[in-house]
Amino acid sequence: MTFKELNISEPILNALVKKKYSFPTPVQEQAIPVALKGRDLLGIAQTGTGKTAAFAIPVIQQLNHPAPKGTERNIQALILTPTRELAMQINECFSDYARYTTLRHTVIFGGVNQRPQVHSLKQGVDILIATPGRLLDLINQKYITLNHVKHFILDEADRMLDMGFIHDIKRLLPLLPKQKQTLFFSATMPQTIANLSKSILNKPVRIEVTPESSVVDTIEQRLYFVEKPQKSQLLVNILQKKRRSVLVFSRTKHGADKIARTLNKQGIGCEAIHGNKTQVARQRALTNFKLGKTHVIIATDIAARGIDIANLEMVINYDLPDIAETYVHRIGRTGRAGHGGTALSFCSQEEYSIVKDIQKLTGRKLNPVAIPA
Ligand code: AMP
Repeated sequence: MTFKELNISEPILNALVKKKYSFPTPVQEQAIPVALKGRDLLGIAQTGTGKTAAFAIPVIQQLNHPAPKGTERNIQALILTPTRELAMQINECFSDYARYTTLRHTVIFGGVNQRPQVHSLKQGVDILIATPGRLLDLINQKYITLNHVKHFILDEADRMLDMGFIHDIKRLLPLLPKQKQTLFFSATMPQTIANLSKSILNKPVRIEVTPESSVVDTIEQRLYFVEKPQKSQLLVNILQKKRRSVLVFSRTKHGADKIARTLNKQGIGCEAIHGNKTQVARQRALTNFKLGKTHVIIATDIAARGIDIANLEMVINYDLPDIAETYVHRIGRTGRAGHGGTALSFCSQEEYSIVKDIQKLTGRKLNPVAIPA
Protein backbone atom coordinates (compact mmCIF):
# COMPACT_ATOMS: atom_id res chain seq x y z
CA MET A 1 0.00 0.00 0.00
CA THR A 2 1.30 3.46 -0.92
CA PHE A 3 0.27 6.88 0.36
CA LYS A 4 -1.06 7.64 -3.14
CA GLU A 5 -3.43 4.69 -2.91
CA LEU A 6 -4.85 6.24 0.24
CA ASN A 7 -6.06 9.16 -1.92
CA ILE A 8 -3.87 11.68 -0.20
CA SER A 9 -3.72 14.99 -2.03
CA GLU A 10 -0.69 16.25 -3.90
CA PRO A 11 0.58 18.89 -1.44
CA ILE A 12 0.59 16.35 1.39
CA LEU A 13 2.12 13.61 -0.77
CA ASN A 14 4.95 16.01 -1.60
CA ALA A 15 5.44 16.76 2.08
CA LEU A 16 5.64 13.02 2.83
CA VAL A 17 8.25 12.59 0.12
CA LYS A 18 10.24 15.35 1.78
CA LYS A 19 9.91 13.47 5.09
CA LYS A 20 11.19 10.37 3.25
CA TYR A 21 8.24 8.27 4.35
CA SER A 22 8.00 5.40 1.88
CA PHE A 23 4.95 3.50 3.08
CA PRO A 24 2.04 4.21 5.39
CA THR A 25 2.27 2.46 8.76
CA PRO A 26 -0.59 0.06 9.66
CA VAL A 27 -2.42 2.66 11.73
CA GLN A 28 -2.16 5.15 8.89
CA GLU A 29 -3.36 2.58 6.37
CA GLN A 30 -6.45 1.95 8.47
CA ALA A 31 -7.20 5.40 9.86
CA ILE A 32 -6.62 7.72 6.92
CA PRO A 33 -9.37 6.40 4.58
CA VAL A 34 -11.90 6.36 7.42
CA ALA A 35 -11.04 9.86 8.59
CA LEU A 36 -11.05 11.23 5.04
CA LYS A 37 -14.65 10.06 4.71
CA GLY A 38 -15.48 12.27 7.67
CA ARG A 39 -16.27 9.37 10.00
CA ASP A 40 -15.57 9.39 13.72
CA LEU A 41 -12.74 7.12 14.75
CA LEU A 42 -11.75 5.15 17.79
CA GLY A 43 -8.08 4.36 17.38
CA ILE A 44 -6.19 2.07 19.71
CA ALA A 45 -2.54 2.73 19.00
CA GLN A 46 0.57 3.62 20.90
CA THR A 47 3.08 6.35 20.31
CA GLY A 48 5.63 5.12 17.82
CA THR A 49 3.06 3.59 15.47
CA GLY A 50 2.75 6.71 13.33
CA LYS A 51 -0.59 7.71 14.81
CA THR A 52 0.13 11.46 14.65
CA ALA A 53 0.28 11.38 10.86
CA ALA A 54 -2.78 9.12 10.91
CA PHE A 55 -4.86 11.99 12.26
CA ALA A 56 -2.86 15.00 11.01
CA ILE A 57 -2.96 14.02 7.32
CA PRO A 58 -6.77 13.71 7.03
CA VAL A 59 -7.29 16.89 9.06
CA ILE A 60 -4.97 18.87 6.80
CA GLN A 61 -6.51 17.41 3.67
CA GLN A 62 -10.07 18.13 4.74
CA LEU A 63 -9.27 21.73 5.67
CA ASN A 64 -7.05 22.61 2.76
CA HIS A 65 -9.52 24.67 0.73
CA PRO A 66 -8.32 28.24 0.40
CA ALA A 67 -10.79 30.57 2.13
CA PRO A 68 -11.98 33.57 0.11
CA LYS A 69 -9.64 36.53 0.57
CA GLY A 70 -10.41 38.77 3.50
CA THR A 71 -12.26 36.10 5.48
CA GLU A 72 -11.21 35.74 9.06
CA ARG A 73 -9.38 32.57 10.10
CA ASN A 74 -11.07 30.46 12.75
CA ILE A 75 -9.90 27.44 14.66
CA GLN A 76 -11.30 24.59 12.59
CA ALA A 77 -9.35 21.75 14.12
CA LEU A 78 -8.46 21.20 17.76
CA ILE A 79 -5.93 18.60 18.85
CA LEU A 80 -5.97 17.98 22.58
CA THR A 81 -2.99 16.15 24.04
CA PRO A 82 -1.82 15.60 27.63
CA THR A 83 1.74 16.89 27.73
CA ARG A 84 3.75 19.81 26.50
CA GLU A 85 6.28 17.45 24.83
CA LEU A 86 3.58 15.67 22.87
CA ALA A 87 2.00 19.01 21.95
CA MET A 88 5.29 20.26 20.58
CA GLN A 89 5.88 17.03 18.65
CA ILE A 90 2.42 17.16 17.11
CA ASN A 91 2.96 20.80 16.19
CA GLU A 92 6.15 19.81 14.37
CA CYS A 93 4.27 17.12 12.49
CA PHE A 94 1.73 19.69 11.32
CA SER A 95 4.58 21.97 10.22
CA ASP A 96 5.98 19.07 8.20
CA TYR A 97 2.82 17.68 6.64
CA ALA A 98 1.12 21.04 5.96
CA ARG A 99 4.24 22.74 4.57
CA TYR A 100 2.83 22.95 1.03
CA THR A 101 -0.59 24.23 2.12
CA THR A 102 -1.69 27.69 3.24
CA LEU A 103 -3.07 26.38 6.54
CA ARG A 104 -1.85 27.95 9.76
CA HIS A 105 -1.42 26.12 13.03
CA THR A 106 -0.06 26.85 16.44
CA VAL A 107 0.54 25.16 19.77
CA ILE A 108 -0.34 26.23 23.32
CA PHE A 109 0.65 24.63 26.63
CA GLY A 110 1.09 25.66 30.24
CA GLY A 111 4.16 26.39 32.29
CA VAL A 112 5.37 29.19 30.03
CA ASN A 113 4.41 32.80 29.47
CA GLN A 114 1.15 32.98 27.55
CA ARG A 115 2.01 36.16 25.66
CA PRO A 116 3.74 34.64 22.60
CA GLN A 117 0.94 32.06 22.36
CA VAL A 118 -1.72 34.78 22.46
CA HIS A 119 0.19 36.74 19.84
CA SER A 120 0.28 33.71 17.59
CA LEU A 121 -3.45 33.09 18.08
CA LYS A 122 -4.22 36.70 17.16
CA GLN A 123 -2.56 36.18 13.76
CA GLY A 124 -5.36 33.72 13.02
CA VAL A 125 -4.97 29.94 13.04
CA ASP A 126 -6.84 27.07 11.39
CA ILE A 127 -5.44 24.26 13.54
CA LEU A 128 -4.75 24.47 17.26
CA ILE A 129 -2.74 21.94 19.25
CA ALA A 130 -3.27 22.34 22.98
CA THR A 131 -2.91 20.86 26.43
CA PRO A 132 -6.16 21.07 28.40
CA GLY A 133 -5.25 23.52 31.19
CA ARG A 134 -3.81 26.29 29.04
CA LEU A 135 -6.62 25.87 26.54
CA LEU A 136 -9.29 26.42 29.19
CA ASP A 137 -7.32 29.32 30.56
CA LEU A 138 -7.15 31.13 27.22
CA ILE A 139 -10.80 30.35 26.51
CA ASN A 140 -11.72 31.96 29.85
CA GLN A 141 -9.67 34.98 28.89
CA LYS A 142 -11.62 35.13 25.59
CA TYR A 143 -8.58 34.66 23.38
CA ILE A 144 -10.04 31.44 21.97
CA THR A 145 -13.46 30.26 20.90
CA LEU A 146 -14.13 26.76 19.72
CA ASN A 147 -17.36 27.59 17.85
CA HIS A 148 -15.93 26.81 14.43
CA VAL A 149 -14.21 23.52 15.22
CA LYS A 150 -15.00 20.88 12.59
CA HIS A 151 -12.40 18.32 13.61
CA PHE A 152 -11.66 17.40 17.21
CA ILE A 153 -8.81 15.03 18.03
CA LEU A 154 -8.34 13.62 21.49
CA ASP A 155 -4.87 12.18 21.64
CA GLU A 156 -3.53 9.74 24.27
CA ALA A 157 -6.86 9.63 26.08
CA ASP A 158 -5.65 7.06 28.62
CA ARG A 159 -2.71 9.21 29.63
CA MET A 160 -4.99 12.22 29.76
CA LEU A 161 -7.16 10.47 32.34
CA ASP A 162 -4.15 9.15 34.27
CA MET A 163 -2.94 12.70 34.57
CA GLY A 164 -6.26 13.82 36.02
CA PHE A 165 -7.50 15.82 33.04
CA ILE A 166 -10.99 14.29 33.02
CA HIS A 167 -12.60 17.39 34.57
CA ASP A 168 -10.90 19.70 32.09
CA ILE A 169 -12.07 17.51 29.23
CA LYS A 170 -15.62 17.50 30.57
CA ARG A 171 -15.53 21.28 30.73
CA LEU A 172 -14.20 21.56 27.19
CA LEU A 173 -16.60 19.18 25.46
CA PRO A 174 -19.71 21.40 25.69
CA LEU A 175 -17.73 24.29 24.20
CA LEU A 176 -17.30 22.39 20.95
CA PRO A 177 -19.96 22.43 18.21
CA LYS A 178 -22.23 19.38 18.15
CA GLN A 179 -21.62 18.83 14.47
CA LYS A 180 -18.01 17.80 14.05
CA GLN A 181 -15.69 14.90 13.32
CA THR A 182 -14.02 13.35 16.37
CA LEU A 183 -10.91 11.19 16.25
CA PHE A 184 -10.17 9.53 19.56
CA PHE A 185 -6.81 7.86 20.20
CA SER A 186 -5.72 5.82 23.17
CA ALA A 187 -2.97 3.25 23.69
CA THR A 188 -5.18 1.16 25.97
CA MET A 189 -8.91 0.77 26.34
CA PRO A 190 -9.89 0.24 29.99
CA GLN A 191 -13.56 0.66 30.88
CA THR A 192 -13.25 4.34 31.85
CA ILE A 193 -11.78 5.19 28.46
CA ALA A 194 -14.35 3.07 26.65
CA ASN A 195 -17.09 4.98 28.49
CA LEU A 196 -15.56 8.34 27.69
CA SER A 197 -15.22 7.41 24.03
CA LYS A 198 -18.86 6.30 23.89
CA SER A 199 -19.98 9.61 25.30
CA ILE A 200 -18.21 11.67 22.65
CA LEU A 201 -18.06 9.59 19.48
CA ASN A 202 -20.79 9.23 16.91
CA LYS A 203 -20.93 5.76 15.28
CA PRO A 204 -17.15 5.49 15.27
CA VAL A 205 -15.09 3.10 13.20
CA ARG A 206 -12.82 1.22 15.58
CA ILE A 207 -9.31 0.48 14.50
CA GLU A 208 -6.70 -1.26 16.52
CA VAL A 209 -3.05 -1.75 15.86
CA THR A 210 -2.72 -4.94 17.80
CA PRO A 211 0.39 -5.26 19.82
CA GLU A 212 1.97 -8.56 18.96
CA SER A 213 2.62 -10.79 21.90
CA SER A 214 3.37 -14.23 20.60
CA VAL A 215 6.66 -15.59 19.44
CA VAL A 216 6.65 -18.63 17.17
CA ASP A 217 8.37 -21.75 18.45
CA THR A 218 10.71 -21.98 15.50
CA ILE A 219 12.63 -18.89 16.64
CA GLU A 220 15.55 -19.60 18.91
CA GLN A 221 16.05 -16.65 21.25
CA ARG A 222 19.39 -15.88 22.87
CA LEU A 223 20.30 -13.14 25.28
CA TYR A 224 23.79 -11.72 25.76
CA PHE A 225 24.55 -9.57 28.76
CA VAL A 226 26.99 -7.10 27.32
CA GLU A 227 27.75 -3.50 28.18
CA LYS A 228 27.51 -0.84 25.49
CA PRO A 229 31.22 -0.40 24.75
CA GLN A 230 31.60 -4.15 24.14
CA LYS A 231 28.60 -4.55 21.86
CA SER A 232 30.36 -3.83 18.59
CA GLN A 233 33.12 -6.39 19.25
CA LEU A 234 30.50 -9.01 20.11
CA LEU A 235 28.66 -8.25 16.89
CA VAL A 236 31.84 -8.56 14.86
CA ASN A 237 32.68 -11.90 16.51
CA ILE A 238 29.23 -13.30 15.80
CA LEU A 239 29.08 -12.07 12.23
CA GLN A 240 32.55 -13.31 11.39
CA LYS A 241 31.26 -16.80 12.03
CA LYS A 242 27.84 -16.40 10.51
CA ARG A 243 27.12 -14.27 7.49
CA ARG A 244 23.82 -15.20 5.93
CA SER A 245 20.87 -12.78 5.86
CA VAL A 246 21.12 -11.01 9.17
CA LEU A 247 19.05 -7.97 10.14
CA VAL A 248 20.57 -5.88 12.91
CA PHE A 249 18.36 -3.41 14.76
CA SER A 250 19.76 -0.15 16.05
CA ARG A 251 17.84 2.30 18.20
CA THR A 252 19.11 5.39 16.34
CA LYS A 253 20.06 6.39 12.81
CA HIS A 254 23.44 7.57 14.01
CA GLY A 255 23.98 4.25 15.78
CA ALA A 256 23.06 2.34 12.62
CA ASP A 257 25.69 4.24 10.62
CA LYS A 258 28.29 3.64 13.29
CA ILE A 259 27.63 -0.10 13.34
CA ALA A 260 27.84 -0.21 9.54
CA ARG A 261 31.19 1.58 9.58
CA THR A 262 32.61 -0.82 12.19
CA LEU A 263 31.47 -3.92 10.31
CA ASN A 264 32.72 -2.69 6.96
CA LYS A 265 36.12 -1.94 8.49
CA GLN A 266 36.24 -5.56 9.63
CA GLY A 267 35.45 -6.75 6.13
CA ILE A 268 31.84 -7.64 6.89
CA GLY A 269 29.93 -6.16 3.96
CA CYS A 270 26.77 -4.44 5.13
CA GLU A 271 24.58 -1.40 4.62
CA ALA A 272 22.48 0.71 6.96
CA ILE A 273 18.98 1.87 6.11
CA HIS A 274 17.19 4.62 7.98
CA GLY A 275 15.19 7.78 7.49
CA ASN A 276 18.17 9.95 6.63
CA LYS A 277 18.99 7.85 3.59
CA THR A 278 17.35 8.62 0.27
CA GLN A 279 14.71 6.30 -1.06
CA VAL A 280 17.11 5.28 -3.84
CA ALA A 281 19.86 4.44 -1.34
CA ARG A 282 17.47 2.41 0.80
CA GLN A 283 16.14 0.53 -2.20
CA ARG A 284 19.65 -0.21 -3.41
CA ALA A 285 20.65 -1.52 0.02
CA LEU A 286 17.63 -3.80 0.06
CA THR A 287 18.24 -5.11 -3.43
CA ASN A 288 21.88 -5.89 -2.60
CA PHE A 289 20.74 -7.71 0.49
CA LYS A 290 18.06 -9.68 -1.32
CA LEU A 291 20.50 -10.67 -4.07
CA GLY A 292 22.95 -11.85 -1.45
CA LYS A 293 25.55 -9.21 -2.37
CA THR A 294 25.51 -8.12 1.25
CA HIS A 295 24.59 -10.46 4.09
CA VAL A 296 23.93 -7.94 6.80
CA ILE A 297 21.59 -5.00 6.92
CA ILE A 298 21.32 -2.55 9.81
CA ALA A 299 18.04 -0.77 10.31
CA THR A 300 16.10 1.40 12.71
CA ASP A 301 12.58 0.25 13.59
CA ILE A 302 10.97 2.88 11.42
CA ALA A 303 13.07 2.06 8.36
CA ALA A 304 12.53 -1.67 8.90
CA ARG A 305 8.77 -1.23 8.56
CA GLY A 306 9.11 -1.11 4.82
CA ILE A 307 11.34 -4.15 4.59
CA ASP A 308 9.88 -7.32 3.34
CA ILE A 309 12.47 -10.04 3.28
CA ALA A 310 11.49 -13.66 3.33
CA ASN A 311 13.65 -16.26 5.05
CA LEU A 312 15.72 -13.96 7.18
CA GLU A 313 17.98 -16.26 9.15
CA MET A 314 18.88 -14.07 12.04
CA VAL A 315 17.71 -10.91 13.77
CA ILE A 316 20.08 -9.16 16.14
CA ASN A 317 18.86 -6.60 18.63
CA TYR A 318 22.01 -4.54 18.98
CA ASP A 319 19.91 -2.25 21.15
CA LEU A 320 16.78 -3.51 22.80
CA PRO A 321 13.63 -1.57 21.88
CA ASP A 322 11.79 0.54 24.49
CA ILE A 323 8.54 -1.32 23.96
CA ALA A 324 8.22 -5.09 24.40
CA GLU A 325 5.81 -5.40 21.45
CA THR A 326 8.50 -3.98 19.19
CA TYR A 327 10.79 -6.85 20.23
CA VAL A 328 8.17 -9.38 19.17
CA HIS A 329 7.65 -7.54 15.92
CA ARG A 330 11.40 -7.39 15.24
CA ILE A 331 12.16 -11.03 15.84
CA GLY A 332 9.03 -12.08 13.95
CA ARG A 333 11.02 -11.24 10.82
CA THR A 334 12.87 -14.49 11.20
CA GLY A 335 11.42 -17.98 11.59
CA ARG A 336 8.66 -17.22 9.08
CA ALA A 337 6.58 -19.84 7.34
CA GLY A 338 7.85 -22.67 9.47
CA HIS A 339 11.52 -21.92 8.78
CA GLY A 340 13.89 -21.84 11.71
CA GLY A 341 15.37 -18.56 12.81
CA THR A 342 17.56 -17.10 15.49
CA ALA A 343 17.07 -13.90 17.45
CA LEU A 344 19.97 -12.51 19.45
CA SER A 345 19.60 -9.65 21.90
CA PHE A 346 22.42 -7.57 23.32
CA CYS A 347 21.38 -6.34 26.72
CA SER A 348 23.30 -3.77 28.73
CA GLN A 349 22.59 -3.08 32.36
CA GLU A 350 20.21 -0.21 31.67
CA GLU A 351 18.25 -2.33 29.20
CA TYR A 352 17.51 -5.06 31.69
CA SER A 353 14.07 -3.75 32.64
CA ILE A 354 12.89 -4.19 29.06
CA VAL A 355 13.93 -7.85 29.16
CA LYS A 356 11.53 -8.27 32.05
CA ASP A 357 8.76 -6.60 30.03
CA ILE A 358 9.49 -8.88 27.07
CA GLN A 359 9.34 -11.98 29.27
CA LYS A 360 6.07 -10.83 30.74
CA LEU A 361 4.54 -10.11 27.35
CA THR A 362 5.67 -13.30 25.65
CA GLY A 363 5.34 -15.55 28.68
CA ARG A 364 8.78 -16.99 27.98
CA LYS A 365 12.06 -16.66 29.74
CA LEU A 366 14.96 -15.29 27.73
CA ASN A 367 17.94 -17.39 28.62
CA PRO A 368 21.30 -15.68 28.82
CA VAL A 369 24.12 -17.35 26.93
CA ALA A 370 27.85 -16.94 27.38
CA ILE A 371 29.65 -14.40 25.24
CA PRO A 372 31.67 -16.21 22.57
CA ALA A 373 35.39 -15.68 22.77
P1 AMP B 1 4.07 8.71 16.23
O1 AMP B 1 3.54 7.37 16.59
O2 AMP B 1 3.07 9.55 15.53
O3 AMP B 1 4.71 9.39 17.41
O4 AMP B 1 5.24 8.50 15.14
C1 AMP B 1 6.43 7.85 15.44
C2 AMP B 1 7.55 8.19 14.45
O5 AMP B 1 7.30 7.58 13.18
C3 AMP B 1 7.75 9.67 14.17
O6 AMP B 1 9.13 9.95 14.25
C4 AMP B 1 7.28 9.85 12.74
O7 AMP B 1 8.00 10.88 12.08
C5 AMP B 1 7.55 8.50 12.13
N1 AMP B 1 6.63 8.12 11.04
C6 AMP B 1 5.30 8.30 11.00
N2 AMP B 1 4.79 7.76 9.88
C7 AMP B 1 5.81 7.23 9.18
C8 AMP B 1 5.91 6.52 7.93
N3 AMP B 1 4.83 6.27 7.22
N4 AMP B 1 7.13 6.13 7.52
C9 AMP B 1 8.23 6.39 8.28
N5 AMP B 1 8.20 7.04 9.46
C10 AMP B 1 7.01 7.45 9.92
